[in-house]
Amino acid sequence: MSLNTEFIPFARPDISEAEVEAVQRVLRSGWLTTASETATFEREFAAAAGVPHALAVNSATSGLHLALEALGVGPGDRVVLSPYTFTSTAEVIRYLGADPLFVDVDPHTRNICPTRLAETLEREKDSNTGERAGHRGRIAAVIAVHIGGVPCDMAAITMITRRYQIPVVEDAAHCLPWPPDGPPVGTEGDVGIYSFYATKPIAVGEGGMVVTRDDATARRIRLMRLHGIDRDVWNRYHSSTPSWQYDVVEAGYKYNLPDTAAAIGRVQLARSAALRSARAQIAARYRQRITAAGIVDRASVELPVDDPRHSHHLFILSVGDGARPTLRDAMIARLTELGVGTSVHYRPLHLMTYYRTRYHLAPDDFPRALVAYHRAISLPLYSGLSEPMVERICDAVIDAHRASMQDG
Ligand SMILES: *Cc1c(COP(=O)(O)O)cnc(C)c1O
Repeated sequence: MSLNTEFIPFARPDISEAEVEAVQRVLRSGWLTTASETATFEREFAAAAGVPHALAVNSATSGLHLALEALGVGPGDRVVLSPYTFTSTAEVIRYLGADPLFVDVDPHTRNICPTRLAETLEREKDSNTGERAGHRGRIAAVIAVHIGGVPCDMAAITMITRRYQIPVVEDAAHCLPWPPDGPPVGTEGDVGIYSFYATKPIAVGEGGMVVTRDDATARRIRLMRLHGIDRDVWNRYHSSTPSWQYDVVEAGYKYNLPDTAAAIGRVQLARSAALRSARAQIAARYRQRITAAGIVDRASVELPVDDPRHSHHLFILSVGDGARPTLRDAMIARLTELGVGTSVHYRPLHLMTYYRTRYHLAPDDFPRALVAYHRAISLPLYSGLSEPMVERICDAVIDAHRASMQDG
């Protein structure tokens, strides 16, 4: 296969010698699980995010679970989120015996629509207070997902949720690193969660971080992430107290991040601004080439929202009219033929068997999420893409659009 036709994968982590050396250092230290490396990672992350508490966990899914648990979500409660997300965001609601209450998205950002959120909370407010409190399950939290790294309108969201005194969790799985201006994305709600999964902007394989400004929430998450062991009694790693002297005060979870992963995370965090700027440059080139090709027009090809606070985790192109995914699917097939890997973020949860059947949901219940899904193609966006690869991807997108329009 010539270099020219070599398949360009959709995602690839950027691991340098520094990450390799950091892992070797931890392996040689004799401590494989959670200890000082993880504590240092937490301190560095908290400082970078400008928050008092950063708690490392073994995945963002674990972090979301711990956040909702700490906020008191329990059986019979409801948690508001948009269906336009990865299943993690909703499954953790079910872990706690609560139910998701879906709200449609903004058609351009694909994030939860503040207007729809306000309407929903107003309509359901009797569930939380007054005579009908608890009748349908109180609304215990709202989860805002920043899709692809485009920030939700947190000012609008928190203004609405404060009116009903409902806490906000930010699924900031896509939101690293933080842009130079404005508050770090993921730190404006009550709890924010980041993912270090292999394809995320800081990749350690499996891992996550929870941030909060609230001491009590941090204390609860710290307790529950490691077996409900009271750390005041048992400081497992540093204390002179014998390690058998500990108390268990809750049935907690096993969600701690090992030092091997934290070592990778520390290096990735230090490199994250440079990695973001590499992705931002590629995204800018995609915009330039696709615009210059004259195919941008709301009904046919729409570029992703250009927000200065974008982490540039995903570049989600919108194609076609959204009534059907015909053009999108044809373009993906053509791009694959041309050696360009793509993905779709996301097939909304209300179309997934579990949520559809359990909650009796129809595709048209969330029409904007449906249309956004029908139109979505995520292009490769990672620092390892060379200039010729970026140009090849642009050529392929323009070719695939032309060919698919002719066929359709
Ligand atoms: C990846 C992802 C998660 C889950 O992250 P893990 O670290 O794999 O648990 C949650 N929410 C969103 C939006 C994601 O993309």
